[in-house]
Amino acid sequence: MTLALVTQPGRAGTTRVAEVDDGRVREGEVPVRPLEIGVCGTDREISEGHFGVAPEGEDLVLGHELLGVVDRDGYGFTRGELVTATVRRSCGHCLACADESPDSCLSGDYSERGITRLHGYARELVAEDPAQLVAIPKSLGRLGVLAEPTSICERALRHARTIGGRQPWQLERALVIGAGAIGLLMTYLLRLADVEVWTASLEPENDLVEHSGASYVSTQDDDLSGLGTFDLVIEAAGNAELMARTLGQLRRSGVACILGIDPRAQTVEIDGRVLGVDLILENRVLFGSVNAQRRDWLAAVADLDRARERWPEALERFVKLRVELDRFQEAFEHRGGKATLVLSHD
Ligand code: BGC
Repeated sequence: MTLALVTQPGRAGTTRVAEVDDGRVREGEVPVRPLEIGVCGTDREISEGHFGVAPEGEDLVLGHELLGVVDRDGYGFTRGELVTATVRRSCGHCLACADESPDSCLSGDYSERGITRLHGYARELVAEDPAQLVAIPKSLGRLGVLAEPTSICERALRHARTIGGRQPWQLERALVIGAGAIGLLMTYLLRLADVEVWTASLEPENDLVEHSGASYVSTQDDDLSGLGTFDLVIEAAGNAELMARTLGQLRRSGVACILGIDPRAQTVEIDGRVLGVDLILENRVLFGSVNAQRRDWLAAVADLDRARERWPEALERFVKLRVELDRFQEAFEHRGGKATLVLSHD
């Protein structure tokens, strides 16, 4: 038996550390010992009973943001090597999944590690398909735990560039709304690409944002209207009202991307002229983005390592809280910066 963080999706208050089956490592799989698991809003939602699906007849093992270490040589991996692993897996019967793009699955029948029908990584040992593993360079070390949220940002930026690039467009000015893990990582990725960035959030100040060369805007003092308009707006605060407003914050040919989920039942307002006139006459676009494919994971790992080289101490401060598995509640309640569950200090 092995210890794992389990929950019953759909039933709030059922998350607990429990003993589960060791999880046999089958032929064709690589055994991985999780070192650290990042926690995000999705884990909270599952734990509060609003999201997630367990494998048939079982409790769901949580955790989809993996940093682990390979436990046995094989399939191109070496014992001791740091790895992470993708989250979403093919539905097996749609055009997108057949094209190795489960992030764009057309049937909705995909599965996701630690979220939908597949156990996650918050346990002492996991067996993984080598095709889903992504090597983490030694230089990145523990920062590899940020690979998953970074892959989400890379995918969103890749799509934004494709959408913007359908016509002549330059990504010069960007606004990032929200300074949680996704907002911060997005800020750093945009700064790596030398984009001029404004990052807005509720707190009075944020030195991690400023450290990257971006400007921090506290929404306590500023309603953002004085900042002008942008080529790209990213909503990572999970506020549908702010999402609706992004269309009005765009320049000509601007692109707005929504990343933060807001599940509240509500009606939000949008100025009819922004939708009925500006969107058309200025070729603006608003789109949503979820998950990531392998190329985004590879870009994420490479860019995290570049960011570490450029801003070493700042990156170290991205993880604000590290706790052992039995203190998962603290990690789930933590706001403002990434919290992780530490499974091993090796
Ligand atoms: C994960 C994605 C996943 C999404 C929806 C996010 O928290 O990062 O990989 O696709 O939740 O389940």
